Amino acid sequence: AHEDLARAEKLADLGIVAAGVAHEMNNPLAIIRGNTELLEMYLPEDGDGREEVEVINRQTERMAKIVSNLLTFARQRPMRLEEVAIPRLLDDIIEQAGHQVDLAGIRIERRYPPQLPKISGDPDKLRQVFVNLIVNAVQAMPQGGVLTLTAEPAEEGFCAVSVGDTGGGIPPEHLDKLFTPFFTTKEAGTGLGLSVSYGIVKDHKGTIKPESVPGQGTRFRVLLPVVRKEEE
Ligand code: ADP
Repeated sequence: AHEDLARAEKLADLGIVAAGVAHEMNNPLAIIRGNTELLEMYLPEDGDGREEVEVINRQTERMAKIVSNLLTFARQRPMRLEEVAIPRLLDDIIEQAGHQVDLAGIRIERRYPPQLPKISGDPDKLRQVFVNLIVNAVQAMPQGGVLTLTAEPAEEGFCAVSVGDTGGGIPPEHLDKLFTPFFTTKEAGTGLGLSVSYGIVKDHKGTIKPESVPGQGTRFRVLLPVVRKEEE
């Protein structure tokens, strides 16, 4: 337990440093994004340079995501519980990210029953969990594939929400490291997405579990508590 504490402290320190760096990166990043937006306006419709600006846009988007992950890793705000409709939350994320997913040659399959009980949760935090899972799923399918989003009633008082992909899967020896902060197998990964997600799900008194078949794909199954009747 002593070692756990020392380790937790070290991680917290690391988080503060990371958040400081991330915060410092926010300003230059905003300036780059603002200026590429201007460049995009100045460039002729189908002239030279458009593709390059697109590349800059995509990569700055990616940096913005890393920065935002680092920031949330260190700065946890208290939970604000609401009644959350999971299908709407997922649809919303897809509406924003769907274009990129299409471009990646990925088909999205949604399976939600019409009458799904609402979740007792913090919508912003839950959004972060599912964005992280969806981004990971998309990144696992560089050659395209199927992204499956499922929501269904589960064990007594819970809803199961899962994000599945038809990517390369997770080697069994990685399974118990996935939720450790900074564990990543990606060149530009932070290894924070799943550890942040784990913390958020735990704060909801839920669970998150990976199921993966190497070579076939991965599914993350998240159990979240439904709103109890007397709270409605
Ligand atoms: P990052 O995406 O920055 O690496 P995460 O904490 O989100 O950080 O993920 C940690 C690691 O878990 C990834 O680097 C990858 O090895 C593995 N992983 C997560 N989701 C998937 C998935 N859907 N398919 C295959 N591997 C995954």
